[in-house]
Amino acid sequence: MTLLLSVGGGSCATTRPPTWDDLGLATPATPATSAAIAQHDRRAVEDGASSSTQRASTPPTATASAGVVIDRALLEFHAVRARARRQGRTSPLWGEAWLDALARIDDGLTRAPVAHDLGAFVRARVTLEVELQQDRERKVVLPGSLAQLVVRTLLGVDDGVAALRAANAPGTLAPSPRPTDDELILHAPVAPLLVTSPFGRRLDPFTGAPRFHAGVDLDGAHGAAVYAAASAIVVYAGPQGGYGRTIVLDHGDGVRTHYAHLSAIHTSVGAFVAEGEVIGAVGSTGRSTGPHLHFAVTDELGAFLDPVAVLDIPFRDIASQVARKGEAPKPNPDPGG
Ligand SMILES: [Zn+2]
Repeated sequence: MTLLLSVGGGSCATTRPPTWDDLGLATPATPATSAAIAQHDRRAVEDGASSSTQRASTPPTATASAGVVIDRALLEFHAVRARARRQGRTSPLWGEAWLDALARIDDGLTRAPVAHDLGAFVRARVTLEVELQQDRERKVVLPGSLAQLVVRTLLGVDDGVAALRAANAPGTLAPSPRPTDDELILHAPVAPLLVTSPFGRRLDPFTGAPRFHAGVDLDGAHGAAVYAAASAIVVYAGPQGGYGRTIVLDHGDGVRTHYAHLSAIHTSVGAFVAEGEVIGAVGSTGRSTGPHLHFAVTDELGAFLDPVAVLDIPFRDIASQVARKGEAPKPNPDPGG
């Protein structure tokens, strides 16, 4: 079955590779994060979450994003710690505040992150590290296992930060026109295509805690070729936190594909890549339990889509592709068919 993603919009009929200007994109070095954080802060104020007069004790709704849940957890954490300070360093409230905050943040981490959540993830990381250090220096009475629990939550926070940076950076969240006048069909980034871990909620392989998996894990031997899912401009190529060596391709109209845990990167930011071109090699860099490709798709709002739902499962001879290891398969001569 062929599924098309947001066809239409601008097109470029020239045969030379389009420049950043042609595509209306910011230069690759421009991060979009400060604007995203400012937008988040405005939303938090509208939401009442930043009001010092309002307690954060209202439970977040089932549809609240990761960032809203995390920000409320941090506000409640600060409020309970203020009460603990009045009771002294042996108050049981210190431990209760920590365990409650970690549970709430873990709940936030199981929700789908949206682009403006980045600020909340960064606030969580700074708050947890700084406050734990201060409590140790003040010799307040803390649960014995607290340090391990904080590390476990921080690993999840770091993954969220890496996911959001991969979705946002560098460049712009504004939809860009399609780099070629083809329809956008996403083809398998590895061959053969075997999903080893699906999109959505799952248990974290490191911690056993439930979390949101923002892409799919595809089987692949170390060093196996990774192909561009469609023609694109390379907007990121380099280390990306827990995702290890990562490439982000912009296919136009805001659709991006993300390739993580790579052992090697065979392209660079600003390059134009054709569908099926080899852009990297499968690896296990970053937070990974073994060689595989973590493949993610984001839309023009930076939201993660289930890649399997938007991939065209190729009806081509997979065996011959595997035999021609390392060589890019020829693009489908009839992409509309
Ligand atoms: Zn993955």
